[in-house]
Amino acid sequence: MSRPSAIVLHEFGTDLELRTFPQAVPEPGAVLADVTHAGVCGTDMHLQQGRLAIPLPIVLGHEAVGRVRALGAGVRTDATGAPLCVGDLVSWASNIPCGACTACGADGAPSLCETRRVYGINQGCAQPPHVSGGWSEQIYLQPGSTIVRVPDGVGPEEVIALGCAGPTVTHALRDVAQVREGDVVVVQGSGPVGMAAAMLAAVAGARRVVVVGGPANRLETARRIGVGDVHIDIGAETDPRGRLARVLAETADGRGADLVIEATGVPSAVAEGIDMARRGGTYLVVGQYTDHGETPINPHHITRKQLRVLGSWAFSPQNHVDYVLSVPALAARFDLPALLTAYPLERANDALADMRAGRTLKPVLVNGART
Ligand SMILES: [Zn+2]
Ligand SMILES: [Zn+2]
Repeated sequence: MSRPSAIVLHEFGTDLELRTFPQAVPEPGAVLADVTHAGVCGTDMHLQQGRLAIPLPIVLGHEAVGRVRALGAGVRTDATGAPLCVGDLVSWASNIPCGACTACGADGAPSLCETRRVYGINQGCAQPPHVSGGWSEQIYLQPGSTIVRVPDGVGPEEVIALGCAGPTVTHALRDVAQVREGDVVVVQGSGPVGMAAAMLAAVAGARRVVVVGGPANRLETARRIGVGDVHIDIGAETDPRGRLARVLAETADGRGADLVIEATGVPSAVAEGIDMARRGGTYLVVGQYTDHGETPINPHHITRKQLRVLGSWAFSPQNHVDYVLSVPALAARFDLPALLTAYPLERANDALADMRAGRTLKPVLVNGART
């Protein structure tokens, strides 16, 4: 059997290196998969730079698709109960909640579990089974993993196109806030989370989706593949009052949006987003995943509007399943692979550099010869 190659981060702030690992054999309840596509996420840039405490060395990659290579004893079905066989195209939730804490239990909020295991983030590669991240030819999926077969009719590119943004927004729009039929939805931000929010809001029945983002070429991509009905470029419309006026013009009687989804990661966007929501509306903060500090807001607007201000953190394994099952509906409406830029696994450093420079929306590492 061939020894799998993987990309390893040995030291923060340095280039990742290709190395090989011993061939793993799945224990009972585990699954070994050949990774076909692994996404590169903004979080990976932060991890590589050492902005979060993670174990080293590590194989990064918390979003991936692959084919079942070997099933451990007792694994017969995926998370939906469908038969699972060697060769099946699958995706898996990046996280395994502990199942025992208050978040996992009484709160029913496993995305808030403090001790969940996360592939590519808190599972180092020093110990067997080593390959616990997606930037690898193989990944060892531990017992307790949530694995779902990719629905017929869609391919790995479609599943990976939104990366972790897909299940993240699925959580936000199912478990935290809901789009109602006919809503006007504003999405602040046009990165993967913003794109996912605009797509999933449309599929959920929004009457109009206004994307406020940038840069211009990213909005052009959104327009070309049908994401969002109205696009406001913050690089061209630099005055927040101008942006607000344009948003309000898209809403009934200029009263504001029913739902505003923050997907920027920029603290100052929050005050602007609150202004865009109507009285009785909802403001949903999804994009502030990294702590970029404080920002002034006028809380009077929250009271006067009786605004529901909600936060949404990460996603549960079930959200991942629900997202993958929604990909056929998304793929029928949007050209998802148009979001991707492919790199061979050994060019992971180039993928990170291009993402950092803003040259790509969604880099993906592809094990082309092994699909
Ligand atoms: Zn991510
Ligand atoms: Zn827990």
